[in-house]
Amino acid sequence: MLDLTGKNALVTGIANNRSIAWGIAQQLHQAGANLGVTYLPDDKGKLEKKVAELVEPLQPSLFVPCDVQNDEQVAAAFETVQEKWGRLDILIHCLAFASRDDLSGDFSNVSRDGFNLALDVSAYSLVQLCRAAKPLMTEGGSVVTLTYLGGVRVIPNYNVMGIAKAALEMNVKYLAAELGPQNIRVNAISAGPIRTLASSAVGGILDMIHHVEEIAPLRRTVTQTEVGNTAAFLCSDLSTGITGQVLYVDAGYEIMGM
Ligand code: NAD
Repeated sequence: MLDLTGKNALVTGIANNRSIAWGIAQQLHQAGANLGVTYLPDDKGKLEKKVAELVEPLQPSLFVPCDVQNDEQVAAAFETVQEKWGRLDILIHCLAFASRDDLSGDFSNVSRDGFNLALDVSAYSLVQLCRAAKPLMTEGGSVVTLTYLGGVRVIPNYNVMGIAKAALEMNVKYLAAELGPQNIRVNAISAGPIRTLASSAVGGILDMIHHVEEIAPLRRTVTQTEVGNTAAFLCSDLSTGITGQVLYVDAGYEIMGM
């Protein structure tokens, strides 16, 4: 049975009720996990308020700011985890960012700054968060990140984010190899296209979704709940033999050649 009772789960990346991280948080909660939620702070505190209201029904026992570009904030977030929980079992890395200008047009136009920004927020952050989580995962643990097919194949307009996802997927393997002896598993879910705040920055996202609906074996794309269910599985004792993998939750689209 999928049971996460007694597990402490830190979920990053909830921006609104379309966020994949929201789908994951709901499924972890349903499976009995004790939730902690991080949010990306903004100047006016608008996002904090919005996310706090959204997650309130899941009764997170921890709600902390965590901008992965701010080392002090990341350190403070994990200090809070240590103080309040003592132990971390589950880490959900569900965040990415690239400048909108770099998500359409010719890939070769990406600037050095734009390239570094996308790689920093979307790929390096997994290493950063795992490093912080490692000493807290004293009874083993499970880390799940979110990737996309554009990290292994060319998808129009995905551009620099494809490079970031390629780096992220290799991060998963190196981290899984390093953390495995401590019984910490690290896996990625490669989700099919879903309409969210982040995906709406990618040029032609609706065309991508319609294409998947025509071609994927299941003739549709996937939902946040389906991704959430797979994340819950990867965090549970049902998947203790799985680490270093990229699991496709994409209605089968990835297998198609033509
Ligand atoms: P989203 O916009 O709901 O979530 C992106 C999150 O990243 C937001 O919560 C945002 O606050 C956070 N974020 C951005 N910069 C940050 C920073 N500096 N520090 C901390 N957090 C930061 O969109 P989403 O589609 O749910 O994206 C979640 C993950 O899923 C991303 O890694 C995305 O690439 C991946 N993904 C999305 C799709 C899709 O089609 N939506 C498909 C496959 C993978």
